[in-house]
Amino acid sequence: MINIPKGTKDVLPDESYKWQYIESVVRRIAKNFGANEIRTPTFEHTELFLRGVGDTTDIVNKEMYTFEDKGKRSITLKPEGTAGVARSFIENGLSNRAMPLKMYYITPVFRYERPQAGRLREHHQFGVEFYGAKGADTDAEVILLAYSVLTELGLNVKLNINSMGCEKCRKDYNSALKEYLKDNLNDLCETCQTRYEKNPLRILDCKVETCKKLVKNAPKITDYLCDDCKAHFENLKSLLDLAGLSYTVNPLIVRGLDYYTKTVFEFVTADLGSQGTVCGGGRYDNLISQLGGGNVPGVGFGMGIERLLMLMEAKGINIPQGENCKVFIAAMGEEAYKKAFEIVSELRQKGVYADLDHMERGIKAQFKYSDKINAEYVAVIGDNELAEGYLNLKKMQDGSVEKLPVNGLIDRF
Ligand code: ATP
Ligand code: MG
Repeated sequence: MINIPKGTKDVLPDESYKWQYIESVVRRIAKNFGANEIRTPTFEHTELFLRGVGDTTDIVNKEMYTFEDKGKRSITLKPEGTAGVARSFIENGLSNRAMPLKMYYITPVFRYERPQAGRLREHHQFGVEFYGAKGADTDAEVILLAYSVLTELGLNVKLNINSMGCEKCRKDYNSALKEYLKDNLNDLCETCQTRYEKNPLRILDCKVETCKKLVKNAPKITDYLCDDCKAHFENLKSLLDLAGLSYTVNPLIVRGLDYYTKTVFEFVTADLGSQGTVCGGGRYDNLISQLGGGNVPGVGFGMGIERLLMLMEAKGINIPQGENCKVFIAAMGEEAYKKAFEIVSELRQKGVYADLDHMERGIKAQFKYSDKINAEYVAVIGDNELAEGYLNLKKMQDGSVEKLPVNGLIDRF
């Protein structure tokens, strides 16, 4: 037997309705915020992620699925959703469209991580990308979009926000952080020792306990913001207050991607252990220019669909199952089966979910099967019904029976 690759999952036919439900909710809400779907390829040139996501991030350093294709190009499976959208935005000249350009995606994401509950090698993200608007009102709108999705799904998760400032503030902050850490360099993990030189801010994101302890009392980036970034952050907070959305300012949030500027945020829950982040996002004002496009600001987030599902299951939230079989026709005998086949075909042509037996079952077993597929009505056709031209239609929920002409079944639904 060939097994599924480590860290991947099948979505089985009796659980796909959960995915479809979540997808329908996110599509509806994204649309209500004026966002249209963008679909970009599953793989891109590796260079895009090196330049876009940044080579001091975990994603690029350790987690990418990179391979050489037969044409000797270096190709990488999407490790996140934003870089591909940014590439497409530039390549298709979308900066000529009416701004802001609001987009969303639902995409598989590939990361070579150690698989555990809520941490897969292929997971799926719903994400949004709003390009062209630089104000904090757009940050607030994006955060509210994520919040609407979470609320609609019945989830109550906490919002943490922070500002990572711009290059100017970050330069001052990085110096302060280095100064603070300089006497404890040896206590940092190996990765953070490299980060200390290349990108000290990243140390705040480290999951190693000793590093976490060290940065706990580190200088706060929010104390190093320039006037512009400070005003932006204050504005965001007042808009969230206005919307009645509570949040915690957490100066340790820096998110695992290099492209963020100013606002960063995450929605977290204590109910998924250390995989508690269900949504992470922020503003990236330099990403498009960094990738060779114009000076176009952007803001967005990525939300892990598997984690949403896990959380909904943990909370016992009921997910609507979608449509059940409307009518099952149980047939006895060859002639009756032909009639049933004909009626089912016509019902389906009308758009009705109708079904009949394909396993040569006896009548009792057909009833049992109709129960398994939750058929709302069952009609029986046998020699008697064919002779008389009438059949009984049984409503399974209450057992009530209607007598109908055999051919009248088609008009009944
Ligand atoms: P974490 O800190 O848990 O590794 P992250 O910072 O790497 O998360 P992002 O890159 O911001 O996460 O991705 C956005 C969302 O995608 C996360 O909030 C999470 O819900 C989900 N996610 C990220 N990595 C995985 C994974 N390996 N398996 C399942 N879901 C994931
Ligand atoms: Mg990660």
